[in-house]
Amino acid sequence: DLRIARIASAIRVIPNFPKPGIMFQDITTLLLDTKAFKDTIDLFVERYKDKAISVVAGIEARGFIFGPPIALAIGAKFVPMRKPNKLPGAVISEEYSLEYGTDKMEMHVGAVEAGERALVIDDLIATGGTLCAAIRLLERVGVEVVECACVIELPELKGRERLGNKPLFVLVNAA
Ligand code: IMP
Repeated sequence: DLRIARIASAIRVIPNFPKPGIMFQDITTLLLDTKAFKDTIDLFVERYKDKAISVVAGIEARGFIFGPPIALAIGAKFVPMRKPNKLPGAVISEEYSLEYGTDKMEMHVGAVEAGERALVIDDLIATGGTLCAAIRLLERVGVEVVECACVIELPELKGRERLGNKPLFVLVNAA
């Protein structure tokens, strides 16, 4: 697909952000390219429009950029999966491990119902820990996670393996 090459070249790489040695994949430049941004959303919509998905669960923060246009186009609701203490209502939360220490992901109670079919979306998968936490959170309340989708995968970190048999769809592989 010719659209993929344009999307890949619209992503900027910033060395040594947020700390030395990290090559940060910056999707803000993709958002500036109106064709590449639209193609990104279109590719996801083409894949998910006929899969009976009722929930698009977007991971803070950049899952909030790609999730809502996909949700609107496929007729699904959008549910934000947030960092701790951001959501005002009652939440359920899931802890997950980071390189140093742990973090938590939260979702509003009542945002989803048992039996719903979800797509989980984020900008990037590295180790896969973040997506795993989102999957656990949704499955705890009886939601079926149909697939996870990201714009970028860092294949060297083998996050895909951590997801086990959960399907992962990505547009671009980065080094
Ligand atoms: P993981 O849990 O190790 O897979 O890390 C994925 C999470 O970290 C996602 O929410 C990403 O937004 C974020 N992340 C890690 N590396 C990058 C990067 O290079 N660019 C943008 N986001 C990143």
